[in-house]
Amino acid sequence: YPRKRDGNGFMQQYKINGQLGKGHFATVYMATEKASGTSFAVKKFEKRSGPGERSRVDGLQQEIAVLMSVGHPNMLCLKDTFDEKDAVYLVLELAPEGELFNWIVTKSKLSEVETRKVFIQLFQGVKYLHERNIVHRDIKPENILLMDKALKVKIADFGLAKIIGEESFTTTLCGTPSYVAPEILEQGNRRRYTRAVDVWSLGVVLYICLCGFPPFSDELYSQENPYTLSQQIKMGRFDYPSPYWDSVGDPALDLIDRMLTVDVEKRITIDECLEHPWTTNQHLSVTDSTDGLTGALAGLDFSKRKPVRERTLLSSINDVKVERTVATQAPDQQPVTVWDKNRGPHFDHTETTEPQAQEPQNGQKGK
Ligand code: ATP
Repeated sequence: YPRKRDGNGFMQQYKINGQLGKGHFATVYMATEKASGTSFAVKKFEKRSGPGERSRVDGLQQEIAVLMSVGHPNMLCLKDTFDEKDAVYLVLELAPEGELFNWIVTKSKLSEVETRKVFIQLFQGVKYLHERNIVHRDIKPENILLMDKALKVKIADFGLAKIIGEESFTTTLCGTPSYVAPEILEQGNRRRYTRAVDVWSLGVVLYICLCGFPPFSDELYSQENPYTLSQQIKMGRFDYPSPYWDSVGDPALDLIDRMLTVDVEKRITIDECLEHPWTTNQHLSVTDSTDGLTGALAGLDFSKRKPVRERTLLSSINDVKVERTVATQAPDQQPVTVWDKNRGPHFDHTETTEPQAQEPQNGQKGK
């Protein structure tokens, strides 16, 4: 637990310059170290009394333990901790460009080249965690921070991370609904879930990066698709609607299919993600380049892909209530992605032309 620093507290050593973000448990500020002039991010946990405080403190201790045990180029680094009368401060490496979340919203979606660049780092970071028996358990675009405009990323927020024993497992219900793996949602099911939950969450983020909207969402609920978010996840029910996925190469879809596999035993591992042709072969993507495509694709059997699922979502979404939104519209009439911090991204049709031409043609793209 953070050590006490009487007389040489946080405020003596750092100057707070403004707020960077706010989560459920903490407020994050930008701060300058007075001695060096260096900027850091400071995560401040107010001390409170009352119900829930015990588990908050336990969670904080866990986060500190994990942060102190990791040291990887794609993991946010903990510089110092202060345990003061009213608050605990974690001094963290600053991510100057903020959340990947904001980057996706600004750009509407990422290209395959950009996405691959981000995911090679994420796969390496999560592989590092998994090798150390750490499961992050809350991977989502808000917890992926951008260090620079060249898309160097670091994974943040170890508040839910858990150090697990080689043979042990964890069954606490945690994570953010849209990104949570199906095995976590199985009610009353105390069966094991382990590292595979991070692979699932990364699969959801990968999907969002490439098209700008989520694979599972309550906004997809309709007469034709009468499934709640939780049911969609448990069934692994998602698709790659045209035209949004038309320019994304099959290898990317194959990787997403393998990451969003409901059966934990069959789900791809993080090592396999790193070895997957989409990750390894810069020339594989149809959008990026067709060079070397035939040879590189030889190892993949796309005929095994799940059958086409007719897309029914666009016409069924309307009147979405939004609390915290950033809306963008790409020049080529992409749908407006509205991102609600509490629910994740979803379509906003109030600003989009009703997409007659955008409605997917059944079987148009064999995905
Ligand atoms: P949650 O509710 O997701 O558990 P939390 O209370 O644990 O959140 P964080 O997610 O760690 O808090 O931080 C909240 C936000 O602060 C982040 O989403 C991000 O926008 C910002 N933030 C956190 N750490 C940094 C950092 N090192 N550099 C820049 N911004 C940061």
